[in-house]
Amino acid sequence: MKHSMKRIMIVLTILLIVSTSFIYAITPRSYYGNTSKYYKWDSSSIKCYVDSTITSTFSTSVCNSIKAGLTAWNNSDAPAVTFTTSYSNWDVLAEAGDYGSSGWDALCTTSCSSLSNNIYIEDYAIIDLNTYYLDNYLSVNNLWRAICCHEMGHAHGLAHNNNEDSIMNEYTTGYYNYLGSSPHFTAPQYADFLGVNAIY
Ligand SMILES: [Zn+2]
Repeated sequence: MKHSMKRIMIVLTILLIVSTSFIYAITPRSYYGNTSKYYKWDSSSIKCYVDSTITSTFSTSVCNSIKAGLTAWNNSDAPAVTFTTSYSNWDVLAEAGDYGSSGWDALCTTSCSSLSNNIYIEDYAIIDLNTYYLDNYLSVNNLWRAICCHEMGHAHGLAHNNNEDSIMNEYTTGYYNYLGSSPHFTAPQYADFLGVNAIY
């Protein structure tokens, strides 16, 4: 769809989650903190469309790192992520663009339109990667992987978890050191599996 329309849709969504090294993030209604109201997929598998311009603009290795992060939860109880090449057929859209000095390096927006037993059921999620910050790290495949794993955790219904070793730490630098030293998570950790498996 047209860029302007997409932006309007994002404004209309009810949940906004920000992952960032720079600013405080908005905490969603989801697991890790509030178990009375959260959101989840109501499906055993979901389809993800990775914007084709990511490969043409950056590289195949960046695209593959993004895909590795998005599927990093597939050995949990969350619905399995598969990829679709059809733009009209996605549950999760992953895209990259220069969103300027927004304060976030990646962001997951989820849209839910129904409530079932006090649980919001997701219609779709959009993961935006901000090249304003990430352009300097194009060759750091593990960073792209870690960030996409974090954002997919939000798409699966997880909030931030700052109490334990977790890929869902609030700040990117909380789970991934850009210089490659510890903490250096690129995949869900023990606490993350506990959290996501409790949802599903
Ligand atoms: Zn986050």
